[in-house]
Amino acid sequence: LPPPPAGAPLGRIDADTYSCYAGATKFDQLPISNKTKDGLRKAEFVDMTDIQRASLPHALCGRDILGAAKTGSGKTLAFLIPVLEKLYRERWGPEDGVGSIIISPTRELGAQLFDVLKAVGKFHNFSAGLLIGGRKDVNTEKEHVNELNILVCTPGRLLQHMDETPNFDCSQLQVLVLDEADRILDVGFKKTLNAIISQLPKHRQTFLFSATQTKSVQDLARLSLKDPEYLSVHEES
Ligand code: ADP
Ligand code: MG
Repeated sequence: LPPPPAGAPLGRIDADTYSCYAGATKFDQLPISNKTKDGLRKAEFVDMTDIQRASLPHALCGRDILGAAKTGSGKTLAFLIPVLEKLYRERWGPEDGVGSIIISPTRELGAQLFDVLKAVGKFHNFSAGLLIGGRKDVNTEKEHVNELNILVCTPGRLLQHMDETPNFDCSQLQVLVLDEADRILDVGFKKTLNAIISQLPKHRQTFLFSATQTKSVQDLARLSLKDPEYLSVHEES
């Protein structure tokens, strides 16, 4: 594989240049920052899973993704890596506010993916917060939410901040992630999600990952994605 063009921001590299990364099998072969590579190495992630191999070259190239792959196939890194890289390449800093919002169906899944973000994003300087309701006091959160770069949230708590937090600002949002979208919809969050998406800036990159492709996932995709790459990875039977 050719080396990534030195210093070139990924968003501006054209599709042809990028197709040369389509054959990558290891994270180290991807044109990503050393900070992310170090985080992956430290967490002992070396070889990409199928969904990661299929989606990362597109995602790193700035495209929206509609990805379907079964539970346990490694969807989390398929979106966390491009989130980190996008903000890194935009030189996102403490004053830039919310650059990425990752929506998860449940508190437990949100907490799990937050742990992966902390591990893989360890060498970056971004601030991240887990906004999932429950025991945490929403008023304390309200004072700090505007200082965070990456928000991992459940739909209900995110909408609560959008509605109630003074000066809550996501106008500079770069990347939106809808993780386990089928489950988000199963839990009855369709209206909440629509309300959230209607308040987000339209110029952004969006990743929608799901274990199954249901009709309601496709409806959500139509609402939230722009000219997406459809990726479906199933096991050989
Ligand atoms: P999904 O969201 O598709 O259900 P996860 O992202 O939660 O899957 O990953 C499932 C498991 O696989 C996790 O334990 C994770 O640490 C592990 N995993 C993910 N990607 C890799 C990889 N490239 N190499 C080794 N293990 C991985
Ligand atoms: Mg998952």
